[in-house]
Amino acid sequence: MEEKVLRFNNLPRPNTSPTGLPNHWVFGVCHVDLEPQGDLVIAVNPKSSFLKQAGPAQILKLGTAAEKAEATISCLLDAFIKADATNSPTFAPWTWSTLDSVTAQAVQDALKKHGVKSEICRVGVCTAEEIDILESPPLLTVFPGDISRCHNCRMSRESFFVPLKKCSKCNSAYYHSRGCQKDHWKDHKHDCRRLASGTYSPLEYYDIKASVDPNAPSPRKRNRVSISSTVVAYKRADTACGLPLHRLVFTGQDTPANMKLLFGQDVKKIKTDHEDARIQVLLDPPVGSPAHVFNLQWHDPSLTRAPRPATEAEENMIKEVRQIQAMIRNRVGVGKSPSTNDMKAIIVEAFGANWVDKLPVYQLATNTIDQGVPAGGHRY
Ligand SMILES: [Zn+2]
Ligand SMILES: [Zn+2]
Repeated sequence: MEEKVLRFNNLPRPNTSPTGLPNHWVFGVCHVDLEPQGDLVIAVNPKSSFLKQAGPAQILKLGTAAEKAEATISCLLDAFIKADATNSPTFAPWTWSTLDSVTAQAVQDALKKHGVKSEICRVGVCTAEEIDILESPPLLTVFPGDISRCHNCRMSRESFFVPLKKCSKCNSAYYHSRGCQKDHWKDHKHDCRRLASGTYSPLEYYDIKASVDPNAPSPRKRNRVSISSTVVAYKRADTACGLPLHRLVFTGQDTPANMKLLFGQDVKKIKTDHEDARIQVLLDPPVGSPAHVFNLQWHDPSLTRAPRPATEAEENMIKEVRQIQAMIRNRVGVGKSPSTNDMKAIIVEAFGANWVDKLPVYQLATNTIDQGVPAGGHRY
């Protein structure tokens, strides 16, 4: 538990997800009535329907709220620490809520007791509004260097009769008005100082430099960004490797030679991330899937999808995921989110006694199926 807490405390903790959705999660425990009997801890981002889960563990049959909370947080931390096969960067929640105040209090106490950073210990109670949130489109995030929209109000540049003006200090933030620039300063000032001094994370390097510099795309050039600077920026190398890795896999450039050029000595460390990125690209998450929304951060219309062919093992994994997705569609319809009850029914039917080992497959299937999640939707 101690090590788990340490890893959790070291996760980056942005207040929005990489694509700008509030980094807010609703979590709960659900029982799976099958051998082996067990409870899963499930965390869902209400805006994207992105699902994280961990377990099984024995939770619900424990006696007191404190005992249940103790078992719950062990899984809950796992759910956030573990990378999943959609290759989304791991990060700790900014805020989180659960279904009732007794559970919230007990979980909060347990987190505190184990030394989880105090700012994350606060556990809220789900509001009725969260149900409304599920139905409204997510707000786009804007990364430094994005010239397509105002970084404060996030309206696209086509909405204005005047060209966007950029922040003269860092040249990386764009605004449609002085008012928007002023409003945004409290969020931007930290990035501004860093970017103005020329310190980029690899992610920003891609957005600010490589995306506008036609000579930048070769892995050799990209290699100028050392992964050690990544570690400073993101604490975890694999988080910031997501974009370059995704691009190499997406374009089929993830040859051993290129991987070595880009990631140097870290190539071994990101082996799992590489495998996850492959599966994710091969599954080609459609519009409306949580993975698609999360992966918008990597969207680059100039790239052509041409992943290297799937290996036999990958083919088998994809087949399994597609079968689960067919079951989900049969049960809940197209473009809908499966509930936890649907999940229980499906994993029981699909995997029988194997269900514990197969949870990651279910998770991958739901995150890469169209659940009707609005991708970059705007309500303007
Ligand atoms: Zn604006
Ligand atoms: Zn600036």
